[in-house]
Amino acid sequence: MAVPNESLEHIAVCPGAFDPITEGHIDIIRRASEMFGRIIVAVAESADKKPLFSLAERVQMAKEACRDLPNVKVDGFQGLVVEYAQQQGAIALVKGLRAVSDFEREVQMALMNRHQAPHIHTVFLVAHSDYAFLSSSLVKELAALGGDIKELVPAAVLEPLYEKLKDASAQAN
Ligand code: ADP
Repeated sequence: MAVPNESLEHIAVCPGAFDPITEGHIDIIRRASEMFGRIIVAVAESADKKPLFSLAERVQMAKEACRDLPNVKVDGFQGLVVEYAQQQGAIALVKGLRAVSDFEREVQMALMNRHQAPHIHTVFLVAHSDYAFLSSSLVKELAALGGDIKELVPAAVLEPLYEKLKDASAQAN
């Protein structure tokens, strides 16, 4: 007998800097989209992290990368993620866990978020083994050194990333 899955009526937010979005992020977003009715990929301004890409560029790349996921929308936000999630009517934040190194920081953040907004849950999905080593910063480093990143990022990221690195190296010279 089919059991109605009530979680499919719920909205969840996948927050991050997405500087740029990687296949590791997309794997988490895709799996979250099977668990919730609607997913909002929330791209944080993250000015303190000095991102390589502007917020608008990060949102644009994420939009293109998530185009084939019908219940996923991409949005930019500033400020507290739990406030944003509440404004959007979300019940959960979905985060990816790669390694023990993610665990400590993510649990600290989840507890702080619960303190701020007790009704917003944090759900952790374990990274796919193919992407457990992958981070946005590693992708940028690899690309700057001429490494092959084709299987690590969606197609929408390749050209903007090479362009950005070209500009950055022209400015440095
Ligand atoms: P990063 O930690 O690479 O700077 P973000 O701030 O954009 O990336 O991270 C957003 C979320 O995506 C975090 O929950 C992070 O743990 C998760 N994430 C990042 N890279 C991966 C990956 N390769 N596999 C699974 N989850 C990931």
